[in-house]
Amino acid sequence: MLNKAILMDRDGTVIKEKPGVYLSDPKALRLYKNTTKALKLFSKLGYKLFIVSNQSGIGRGYFTEKELNAVNTQMLKLISPAAKIEAVYFCPHAPNTPCNCRKPAPQMGLDIIKKYKIDPKKSFMIGDKKSDIDFGRNINMRSVLVLTANGKAQQKKYKNVLKADKITTDIYGAAKYIKGLENEK
Ligand SMILES: [Mg+2]
Ligand SMILES: [Zn+2]
Repeated sequence: MLNKAILMDRDGTVIKEKPGVYLSDPKALRLYKNTTKALKLFSKLGYKLFIVSNQSGIGRGYFTEKELNAVNTQMLKLISPAAKIEAVYFCPHAPNTPCNCRKPAPQMGLDIIKKYKIDPKKSFMIGDKKSDIDFGRNINMRSVLVLTANGKAQQKKYKNVLKADKITTDIYGAAKYIKGLENEK
């Protein structure tokens, strides 16, 4: 049987983001207040959890892959008492570098679907940008826009073209929405 998964954007969805600021110091990392509560609920509902993140700061030369890994390690440490993250995927490329992994391009999602035997139809993508929503659609998952970090501005900017299945205040709102869908079955 195939697994079901929650794919999550990192910055502005799972951890706090100051728009325009590239996080490279693990000590500056903060989870949202509701992150662990949301991840616990996803785990309880039987979802495998993944992070899919665009990290163009590497391609732009703002920080190294080693620094990024240190930030991700700290994130996993803060999350670990609440939930298990199966894997963290990231695209290191700058926007002007052609690649197939910078969201909304589908490669990170396709790799996860294949490696972890995921059923996209039973899975969700959660993020605070249109590129997250489009990424979800590109891999045939339903998508939730969260209104943390860039979410509100993105909702306003793309209101006529945003194809989110649901818009929620934050990641815990997304978790409650998905729990509600489970209850309908
Ligand atoms: Mg984001
Ligand atoms: Zn890439």
